[in-house]
Amino acid sequence: MAYVITEPFIGTKDAACVAVCPVDCIYEGDDQYYINPDECIDCGACEPECPVSAIFAEDSVPEGQTSFIAKNRAFFGL
Ligand code: SF4
Repeated sequence: MAYVITEPFIGTKDAACVAVCPVDCIYEGDDQYYINPDECIDCGACEPECPVSAIFAEDSVPEGQTSFIAKNRAFFGL
């Protein structure tokens, strides 16, 4: 499992989550940041830092946002 950044974040580009990630697995893309699912250790530190509550554990991504699981994976060629 991994944490996933979802739609509310688009256009925000707040980097608070990047600063707290202990393994530096949050990367900047064109339209949003992405969490590398192979590197994320599921610590959960990023979730409360997000000002727009866009970060969820993969199994808790809200309905309607689940396409972001694949979008995050695809960013890393997974
Ligand atoms: Fe980084 Fe932890 Fe968030 Fe995974 S859950 S992206 S390891 S801060």
